[in-house]
Amino acid sequence: MTWLLPDAVLTDAGLEPGLAVEIVGDRIGRVCPLPAGVVPERLADRVLLPGFVNAHSHAFQRALRGHVQHRSSASSDSFWSWREAMYGLAETLDPDGVERISTLAFREMIAAGYTTVGEFHYLHHQPDGAPYADPDELAHRVIAAARTAGIRLVLLYVAYARAGFQVAPNPRQRRFLARSPDDVLAAVSRLTARGDREGFGVGLAPHSMRACPADWLRAFASYQGVVHAHVDEQPAEIRASLAEHGRRPLQVFADAGLVGPRFAAVHLTHPDDAEVRLLVDADASVVACPTTELDLGDGFLPLDKLDPAGARISIGSDSHALVDPFAELRAIEWHARALSGHRNVLTAAPAADARDGLALRLLSIGTRAGATALGLDTGELKPGKLADMITIDSARIELQECRLLPALVFNGSPAAVRDCWVGGRRVKGA
Ligand SMILES: [Zn+2]
Repeated sequence: MTWLLPDAVLTDAGLEPGLAVEIVGDRIGRVCPLPAGVVPERLADRVLLPGFVNAHSHAFQRALRGHVQHRSSASSDSFWSWREAMYGLAETLDPDGVERISTLAFREMIAAGYTTVGEFHYLHHQPDGAPYADPDELAHRVIAAARTAGIRLVLLYVAYARAGFQVAPNPRQRRFLARSPDDVLAAVSRLTARGDREGFGVGLAPHSMRACPADWLRAFASYQGVVHAHVDEQPAEIRASLAEHGRRPLQVFADAGLVGPRFAAVHLTHPDDAEVRLLVDADASVVACPTTELDLGDGFLPLDKLDPAGARISIGSDSHALVDPFAELRAIEWHARALSGHRNVLTAAPAADARDGLALRLLSIGTRAGATALGLDTGELKPGKLADMITIDSARIELQECRLLPALVFNGSPAAVRDCWVGGRRVKGA
C-alpha cells in the first residue's frame, strides 16, 4: 500500500488540510490523518482532488483541431458544415490512424486531469462500409489507445441506423452504420466480455433519434448497462423528431423505455420544460459539452431550466476543440451569468465555508456526476472508491494569494495538474 500526504484533500466539505490518502490496490483505502509510523509520499505545494470524468468524447475528432477554424464557403458555417468536414476526416482514417489520434486525445486528457473517458464510438467499418475481418477492429484500436495513455475507459458503442427520418442515405456515414439492433447488441456483448476481463467499461449509445428509428430504440430497452445518446443538440433535430413522432427527442427515448437512472442525454441544449421534468423525474443525467457547444454554435446549456429542477449535470470534451475540464466547468457558470445578467447562478453545494460552495458544486459536476453517468465507482476521494486522483500545483502564479478552490475552477488550467493516478497507478508526475 501507498500513502499520499498532500497539503490538503478535497472532501465533501472543501479542501481539508491534515489528511492523508491510502491507496490499496486500485482503490482508496483510508482517508485520515497519517497514522503513526507510516512514511508517506509527501506531495508538497499540492492539493489532492478526484480525477475529472470526461463523459463524452469522440477521440478521432481531435484530428480536426485547427483545421476547421476558417469559413469553408462564402456562405456562413454551421454545425452541419462542420459535420461535413468531420465526415471527410472519418473517411480517411485507417485503423492505425484511429489508434494514433485516439492515443493523442487520451494522453492530452490525462495531462489535463481527466482520469476517465466515456468514448462515444461510432467509427466501426472500413471506408466503403464493409466490416473489418474482425468487426470490432476499430473498437480494439480505441481500447489500445486508452491503455497506452493510461486513462480509464468506458466504451460507449454507438448504434447508427440511418441518415435521418425521410433523409436519403448519406454515403459518408457508411463507416457508422449497423445492420440491425441485434448486431449492435452482439458487438456490445463481445466487447463487454473483453472489458470484464481487462478492466474497461462498455455502454450502449443509440446515436440520436435522427440516427435510430423507434423500433431500434425499443430493441435496446432491456439493455442493462449505461445508455448515452445525443439529445436536443440542434433545433433541426427537434423539428425532425416532431415530424416523425409528434414528440420531442427525449420523449421518444422515454417512449422506448430508455430514460432512467442509467440514461445520459448528451448536450440537451434545447429542451422544453416537459423534457427537463422527464429527465429529472427519471433520475437521468445530462452531459454538457460547453466548449464544443460554443465551438459548433450549438447554443448554451439551459441552466435556468436544469438547475432549479435539480438536474444531474456532468461534462464532456466531445470534439476536443479544447481539452480542459476547468474551462468546461467555468463555462457552465459563465454562460448562465452572461444569459441571466446575474452572478453566482448555479446552486452551491454545502461547504464548510460558503465561499467554496459554488466551486465545490462545479467540481462535483466534473467528477462525481460524470462517474454516475458512466456507471463508475469513482469521482470522490472516499474509502472504497477507485483511486483515480490528481494533484493541483497550488504554488502556480495564477493560484497564489487567492482563495484556492474558487480560483482553481475560475483560473485553473491543465498546466496546474501535476500528478495523476488511475486505479492507483501513477500515469503522470514524478
Ligand atoms: Zn457527441
